[in-house]
Amino acid sequence: MKVPFYSSVREYNNRKKEFDDAIQSVISQGNFILGKQVVDFEGAIENYTGAKYAIGVASGTDALTIAADILGFKDGKEVITSPFTFLASASCVLRNKGRVVFVDIDEETFSINADLIEEKINNNTVGILPIHLFDQMADMDRIMEIAKKHNLKVLEDAAEAFGMRWRGKGDTYKHSGTIGDFGIFSFFPTKTLGGYGDGGMIVTNDENLASLSKSYRVHGASKKYHYDYIGYNSRLDTLQAAVLNVKLKYIDEAIKKREHVAKLYMENLKDCQHVRLPKIKHEQKGVYYVFNILAEKRDELSLYLKENEIGYSIYYPMPLHLQKSFEHLGYKKGDFPVAEKVSQSIIALPIYPEITDDEVLYVCETIKKFYSR
Ligand SMILES: *Cc1c(COP(=O)(O)O)cnc(C)c1O
Repeated sequence: MKVPFYSSVREYNNRKKEFDDAIQSVISQGNFILGKQVVDFEGAIENYTGAKYAIGVASGTDALTIAADILGFKDGKEVITSPFTFLASASCVLRNKGRVVFVDIDEETFSINADLIEEKINNNTVGILPIHLFDQMADMDRIMEIAKKHNLKVLEDAAEAFGMRWRGKGDTYKHSGTIGDFGIFSFFPTKTLGGYGDGGMIVTNDENLASLSKSYRVHGASKKYHYDYIGYNSRLDTLQAAVLNVKLKYIDEAIKKREHVAKLYMENLKDCQHVRLPKIKHEQKGVYYVFNILAEKRDELSLYLKENEIGYSIYYPMPLHLQKSFEHLGYKKGDFPVAEKVSQSIIALPIYPEITDDEVLYVCETIKKFYSR
């Protein structure tokens, strides 16, 4: 049995007419740049997440870069984040000559270890950039408490966190991205809410930050051909917005199916002593964007999965502080032992709403077969 790590085609075939009509309507109206579908989608995201303002941009990476620029995460200022993440969580600060200060991750959640943040704060620190990774949000109670105490800005990298909600010690659940000063989502095809190409969104509850974001995505213009800032050319494509409007209608159903798949993995792998299953901590509603296990002999297991035509992915094989492009920060091997250890044994199994129970069971059996050889 061949189990792809991810495929958008099954969902497309299920709702072919809806997707085709949505795309066709953009082409026949010809409103490609910031068309009606973008405005509709921004409104729908505000509704879904409870954010006051949503601003569509070209990618999650651009959303991070623009938000970091506006918050002053640049020009030698320091921003605290995790080394165990996708490149863009840190490159958004480095791009505008800010300084990235890493702290290690929590061994169970793989999120930034909030207990280690405060010791890294100095007079030059301007912000914290938590990442809500894989299946759960970082400890936003602690992070907001520290930020308030030291007057720091918070940019939530919620690229992977669509649908995740945090309650912590509060009375109500808050959608990821809506707790800090800014939050960002990515609509990269594999993400929980994924388009048919690149796309991203900035969310905020602050009117001024929202209006700056709107200006920055059109070259820093306040009105056409009047430029108040040096901004970016970064808009959410109208075709992508049309696709995403269709997808958003079914997102709760899709999230539930992911949960079902995760449960199936847990039930069928719980007796396997050689793997560690994910665990969601704190009062929150996680979303299984990725289903990660920590596996003994990870590299051999991945070869075995490949031989058996099972897709997998490794997020992330090398923490950022060891990347060539980060050499100038002066970090070395051993600086973040938890992140380094996890990167050696983590492996992501196929999970998406359209995967079948039989396929999931086949993945589990194959893993167990590997360890009993
Ligand atoms: C996907 C991702 C991004 C970047 O999003 P793009 O839309 O691909 O630019 C940023 N941060 C994290 C944690 C991601 O997973």
